[in-house]
Amino acid sequence: MRILLQFPEGLKQEALKHAKKLEAEGNEVIISASPTFGACDLAIDEAKKVGAEKLVHFGHAEFHHVDFNVEYVPYTIDASLDVLPSSLDQLKGLQTICLMTTIQHVHQLEQIRRFYEENGKKVLLNRPNGFAKVNGQILGCDDGNVMVLDRSVDAFVYFGGGIFHPLGALLQTTKPFLVVDPFQNRAYRIDEMRERHRKRSRGKILASLKSKNFGILVSTKNGQYNMVLAKLLKKKIEQSGLTAAILVSNTLDFDSLNNMLEFDAFVNTACPRIAIDDTERLRKPLLSANELTEALRLIAETRLAAR
Ligand code: SF4
Repeated sequence: MRILLQFPEGLKQEALKHAKKLEAEGNEVIISASPTFGACDLAIDEAKKVGAEKLVHFGHAEFHHVDFNVEYVPYTIDASLDVLPSSLDQLKGLQTICLMTTIQHVHQLEQIRRFYEENGKKVLLNRPNGFAKVNGQILGCDDGNVMVLDRSVDAFVYFGGGIFHPLGALLQTTKPFLVVDPFQNRAYRIDEMRERHRKRSRGKILASLKSKNFGILVSTKNGQYNMVLAKLLKKKIEQSGLTAAILVSNTLDFDSLNNMLEFDAFVNTACPRIAIDDTERLRKPLLSANELTEALRLIAETRLAAR
């Protein structure tokens, strides 16, 4: 069988090993060298182009249904749990916690949950909203029902490396938020980042108020493509008497976007994290759909006041 292999950036270093194994089993193997950001980003076009009968996507669980033969090979990590005791100090006086992690560690959730329960905590797991598959799992674009749980827990605890994954949940909640990182072997609070992000979001909205031309970004990645939203936003902008165009790309290239000097602001409809994590890579404001709505509201208010 002809197979296309696809790896996220962190696993590309193992591509040859997997290719040779599948070749030894009698398959013809081709490796995708394109950047890969998640299971939202299946290389189906490449697979079809090279005549592959199957795409093997490493590192992620299924994200959305596609009409192609895809085998998912999720990547799990048995991280050391030695870091857990050091998190208890930071959870003093906080009785009920919401525990979450990524697909790499969901198989360790029961063990982590037991640890906290044995140390007197009541543990809740967030429920996925759509793209994540199991309770307690989060994705950069699916924080589950954390906003609802915010009312009933005293703190949120993310087990895993870095802050990419818990950032979305952090911005939707108000309670103490702890990252328990087994790779750095430390537990630390990230609550103060909420205010920083709110200020940055406000700054982007204010910076876009004089914009006349808006570029609406659409990604052709199969799990990110949202032309319906893009058209809706275009209509909203035009109804406000401003100009908008839809800009389409597979992987958004910020240097190319910076060359599109006619646009005063950009609006994201692709991976929701782009308008949070990549704003500094563009010289013009990069808004989420919600931020655009707020900007248009303020523009209308300013016009009314000027009459
Ligand atoms: S956070 Fe973005 S890149 Fe990651 S799975 Fe979601 S849409 Fe894809």
